[in-house]
Amino acid sequence: MAPHPTSLSIAMSEQLSLTVLGCDGSYPGPGGACSGYLLNYGDTRVWLDAGSGTMSNLQAHVALEDLDAVVISHQHPDHWSDIEHLAVACKWVIDRTGIPVFAPQGVRSLLRVGTAVDVFDWHTVGGGDRIEVGGMTLSFSKTDHVETTLAVRVDGGGRSVGYSADTGTGWRLSALGEGLHLALCEATFLADKEGAIPHLSARQAGQLARDAGVERLVITHIWPRVDRELARAEASATFGGDVTVAAIGDRYIA
Ligand SMILES: [Zn+2]
Ligand SMILES: [Zn+2]
Repeated sequence: MAPHPTSLSIAMSEQLSLTVLGCDGSYPGPGGACSGYLLNYGDTRVWLDAGSGTMSNLQAHVALEDLDAVVISHQHPDHWSDIEHLAVACKWVIDRTGIPVFAPQGVRSLLRVGTAVDVFDWHTVGGGDRIEVGGMTLSFSKTDHVETTLAVRVDGGGRSVGYSADTGTGWRLSALGEGLHLALCEATFLADKEGAIPHLSARQAGQLARDAGVERLVITHIWPRVDRELARAEASATFGGDVTVAAIGDRYIA
């Protein structure tokens, strides 16, 4: 008899890992999706950011019934809008209530799904807060962005992942601690756009990761029209080592 799919996925996810559900910066490009990631550790599954298109990709890895929590970094729609679909699915289709959602002040009031919003167990979090979800610990740091935006450090089994969310240069990856095993850092554009809006270039992402003593760097939140190979080259030059460009479906073990 074939193993139950849930048992199989638990066995595969013993170690802390991150799977890319979407990685386009600011808006989804053709066939793409905005920011969204699945964190796994043991049998715990957390949806980190819910940009447009990511709920579809999420279900390739975890059933909605098995999701343990949702974490939203900030109130820009490329990071949260798909939780409206989750609310509707929970309320009207799978009859599930009480999924914990952790988000900064102001996100909850943006949802336009009527009473479906009540399916969530909503928690407001801020910089300096720390939460436990299953075997994972998540710690938040307020970044340099236009709304209250929270970077996240995730710890599980002695391994660590740091996610910059969106930020300008007034925040440092080292605010999540030195020596992260895996850093997922935004790199919205190339160096020619530096300073135009509060985001990082690939060059700056590489520099921040190097300064923080990161073991492995993955760049993400890249505008759809930015050349991925140029972004990789810019980030690698300042990081001083190989850099991975996030792609939908990729899974990284921390
Ligand atoms: Zn964004
Ligand atoms: Zn943003």
